[in-house]
Amino acid sequence: MQKKKITVRGAGIAGLWQAFTLARAGHDVTLIERSKKPFEGACSFYAGAMLAPYAEEEGAEALIRELGLRSIELWREAYPETHIQGSLIVTPPRDRRELDRFERMTQGHERVNESQIAELEPDLAGRYTSGLYFAGEAHVHPHQAMDFLLSAAEEAGAVAHFGREDAPGSADLVIDCRGLGAREDLKELRGVRGERLVIRSSEIAFTRPIRLLHPRFPLYVVPWGYGFFLVGSTQIESDEAGPVTVRSALELLSTAYALHPALGEAEVVGFGAGARPAFSDNSPRIIVKGGHIHVNGLYRHGFLLAPALAELTARYIEDGATHPEVFS
Ligand SMILES: Cc1cc2nc3c(=O)[nH]c(=O)nc-3n(C[C@H](O)[C@H](O)[C@H](O)COP(=O)(O)OP(=O)(O)OC[C@H]3O[C@@H](n4cnc5c(N)ncnc54)[C@H](O)[C@@H]3O)c2cc1C
Repeated sequence: MQKKKITVRGAGIAGLWQAFTLARAGHDVTLIERSKKPFEGACSFYAGAMLAPYAEEEGAEALIRELGLRSIELWREAYPETHIQGSLIVTPPRDRRELDRFERMTQGHERVNESQIAELEPDLAGRYTSGLYFAGEAHVHPHQAMDFLLSAAEEAGAVAHFGREDAPGSADLVIDCRGLGAREDLKELRGVRGERLVIRSSEIAFTRPIRLLHPRFPLYVVPWGYGFFLVGSTQIESDEAGPVTVRSALELLSTAYALHPALGEAEVVGFGAGARPAFSDNSPRIIVKGGHIHVNGLYRHGFLLAPALAELTARYIEDGATHPEVFS
């Protein structure tokens, strides 16, 4: 393989996986990030970091499942703290039709009854009579995973610069992972705002992401360990990544309380919002413009897709191989 001098722009989850994968493949990688402090400018900072290739197919192309399943393998190979505990979807009996619809739209699940739900998540005992269990799904803690990837990329030889925007002109290739920061070049890109909160509870001990299907306010709770949970998330057509609104906070909090009243006693540790970079079809793209390669449009699947997209980019650099649904 011919070693190349590569600049990766943007240290969100996409850029970190690119830097790590390309440095490990022997390239001379420089990672340039605009924000001074890792990862404060990244949408990725706000993610729940569920790796849910099956459940996400409810609203996405089969491509997301295909790439997502490969990504889980790559996460597992690279990052020991990848939790492959599956995920669980529950719904109150009155919304049973939502669950039936979700079951039809997705695969990789088994229907579980009240006692199976209680076995999987003892804290939900007696609360839900029916659910879907996706055994092959996983999750990571986003901040710890990003710290790990940055260190792993540096150990593999990448050099990271924070508080810088300029891509050095001497690189053979630029891999552009600036998320919404690349919108000047990618006019089709739009933001989809996601608000979430982080809570701490000593009473609840979920071990896997739990989704509550709700016709108006679907919600998920992701266990981050040590009693911390991410509660997410809204989905609003907006580039605005500013503070969470009162309305969204109320919706998230009241739906979390509906999932389990013990969450009403949890401490609110933080609120935050990110703007997810998305193309019109909500599918990711690798766009090759000569020596400038955009990897963008990861939408609500950044953690789910970044490893597989990095692998595709590395293969393209090595032998020109492309994936027809991803490359343009
Ligand atoms: C509330 C919420 C929950 C989510 N939950 C999940 C989930 O459970 N699972 C999942 O897979 N995904 C989830 N997502 C989606 C995921 O966060 C995004 O898909 C992902 O963050 C996109 O990553 P990115 O690296 O493309 O962009 P970003 O994370 O935004 O990174 C882009 C980086 O580029 C930098 N940058 C911009 N301009 C420049 C410049 N000129 N020079 C250098 N650097 C620049 C930015 O500062 C930023 O650090 C969630 C998102 C939100 C908001």
